[in-house]
Amino acid sequence: TSAEPTTDCLFCKIVAGDVPADVVATSDRVIAFRDIAPQAPVHVLVVPKEHHGDVSVLAAADPALLAEVVEIADRVAHDLADGQYRFIFNSGPRAGQSVFHVHGHVLAGARLGWTPA
Ligand code: 5GP
Ligand code: ZN
Repeated sequence: TSAEPTTDCLFCKIVAGDVPADVVATSDRVIAFRDIAPQAPVHVLVVPKEHHGDVSVLAAADPALLAEVVEIADRVAHDLADGQYRFIFNSGPRAGQSVFHVHGHVLAGARLGWTPA
């Protein structure tokens, strides 16, 4: 099913510890680590440990887990920045999604522009 780990998924490998990451927060079901190509002073990816392809799948499969993702995002923004932040899910390749294991981007630590295109 969609919740099974997949051997070719980068974020499943990070969850398993097979690919290193700069982890900044964890809970039972969620891990948060710094983006390798930061777009803001704080740029952290918040990832459920279970494999779900995108936020649409996650919202339908396990809304409590999505809520936990948001909770960890908020914690990271308060721990690493001033608690003001943007939290973005790219859902689908046309929206810019490139890793197909759901993750939210916490962007914080600067005045953020708005350049959706
Ligand atoms: P998406 O484009 O799918 O919304 O976001 C994927 C994010 O993963 C990008 O911001 C990209 O910089 C980040 N990323 C890609 N490969 C790695 C990696 O190996 N480690 C970390 N920490 N981030 C990665
Ligand atoms: Zn995965």
